[in-house]
Amino acid sequence: MSSTQTEQSTPRHVAVVGGGPAGLAAALAAAEAGARVTLIESSLELGGQYWRHLPKERDGEGQAAMHHGWSTFLDLDRRVRSHARITLLSETSVWAVGLPALELLTGTSDAADRVRSTLEPDAVVVATGAHDRTLPFPGWDLPGVYTGGAAQAFAKSERIAVGDTVVVAGAGPFLLPVAASLAQVGSKVVEVVEANRIPRLASGWLPKPWQLAGAPGKVQELFGYVAGQLRHRIPYRVGEAVVEAHGEGRVERVTIMSVDAQWRPIAGSEREVACDAVCVTHGFTPRLEVAIAAGCALDDSRFVVIDESCATSTSDVYAAGEVTGIGGVDLSLAEGRVAGHCAAGGASSDPQISTAQRKRAIFGSFAARIEAAHGVRPGWQAWLRDDTIVCRCEEVTAGQLRRKAAATRSHSLRSQKLSTRAGLGICQARICGRSAEELIETVLGRGLDEGIVDRRPIQTPIRLAELAGTSEEQHPLTGRQHP
Ligand SMILES: Cc1cc2nc3c(=O)[nH]c(=O)nc-3n(C[C@H](O)[C@H](O)[C@H](O)COP(=O)(O)OP(=O)(O)OC[C@H]3O[C@@H](n4cnc5c(N)ncnc54)[C@H](O)[C@@H]3O)c2cc1C
Repeated sequence: MSSTQTEQSTPRHVAVVGGGPAGLAAALAAAEAGARVTLIESSLELGGQYWRHLPKERDGEGQAAMHHGWSTFLDLDRRVRSHARITLLSETSVWAVGLPALELLTGTSDAADRVRSTLEPDAVVVATGAHDRTLPFPGWDLPGVYTGGAAQAFAKSERIAVGDTVVVAGAGPFLLPVAASLAQVGSKVVEVVEANRIPRLASGWLPKPWQLAGAPGKVQELFGYVAGQLRHRIPYRVGEAVVEAHGEGRVERVTIMSVDAQWRPIAGSEREVACDAVCVTHGFTPRLEVAIAAGCALDDSRFVVIDESCATSTSDVYAAGEVTGIGGVDLSLAEGRVAGHCAAGGASSDPQISTAQRKRAIFGSFAARIEAAHGVRPGWQAWLRDDTIVCRCEEVTAGQLRRKAAATRSHSLRSQKLSTRAGLGICQARICGRSAEELIETVLGRGLDEGIVDRRPIQTPIRLAELAGTSEEQHPLTGRQHP
């Protein structure tokens, strides 16, 4: 890859992967610093997980109604689309990385006529975000069990309520916006159930309160959710978890139990709650495929390691947003701005990004607080039964995973996957992978070898014909065709 903007006459070409808050901010900052930018987003619309859209024909229903900072999104969207140095490739996925090349696939998801092309930028910003993580429990494969993110997506982009009577459960601040959105689209939210107890929540959120004062918008957002909970009379219970879903053909009720500080269920605390949907989320897990393929180092919690410039361990590869830690939209925006500016050849101390650097410091503390207060504890494995399905695609149970691990004592991730088939189905371990790994590691008493389940040589699904490179069309925007 080439040297910095200041040392060269032709503008540096920066590719930004991901059009969520971090990617939008990165693309604009890179263009403003003089770079030529290609923004690659697999969805049709920009905005990522946070700013989801009603279909265009339903614009009149008020896109802003269920969003915080919708005007910020409109401003970013307009500036990105109108900037002379930004080329937007929507409905385009990075499906493979062989630096400096990014392999792209453009077209409607899984359509037969997608176009393959290759981009060779000078620098890359990885802003691929995260998806929500749900721990398995008996009955979680029943219709009517949703992730919080899915419920949120239905509410924001379709105004559909996933149920009439809904329990929201898991861990983390995300439970609050999920409950708020459900109430807005007409569900009765029976209760919100947070697995962590008061001492742990306090140990994450109470230290250094002045840092929270530096983020008045977040505090206001939190008060908004609390007011909404009170208005809709939604109880918020702590130290409890949904440990089973029951029903004939779909969810009719859930069992909730008190859990200890490690999330082990406490015998005798069972209670049943009637509902027709349950939304369960235990935090987020980063979308790492592109970062791993680019060789970026990860920390112990599996987030991409970045420095003050948002540079990763791979030369000319930067990262921003939830791939680097779960800190919320403000941190994603600030990191995106720094990453874009520095990928374009700027320095981390430049005055153009001093505000973003200050915000990184403020909102960076949120990621640490969220992990300290709400991070997954190992006791969840105690609410599984032997026949609880962990890998839903291949229908592999907790008992099968544990027995194979005990019988083989193999520390090879690959061999455990091949002998159980866990993680080999259509989702490629995106849903079950970390849970399956943790179950096997508990049996083995140590970590698995050969990397982690997020290492996927092909980053997004591609048809065999596309892989064989039979497409004869040229990419409409890059003008290049794969050989
Ligand atoms: C399901 C879900 C719902 C959420 N809802 C809320 C909420 O209501 N309120 C809240 O405060 N926070 C919410 N969050 C957290 C929120 O996502 C973040 O705070 C913020 O959106 C993170 O921004 P980001 O740019 O890092 O990632 P994202 O917003 O996730 O954006 C990443 C983008 O990268 C694209 N992408 C990924 N891989 C590729 C690839 N290979 N090629 C091309 N494009 C790719 C994705 O399509 C996506 O648009 C939610 C998170 C999730 C996972």
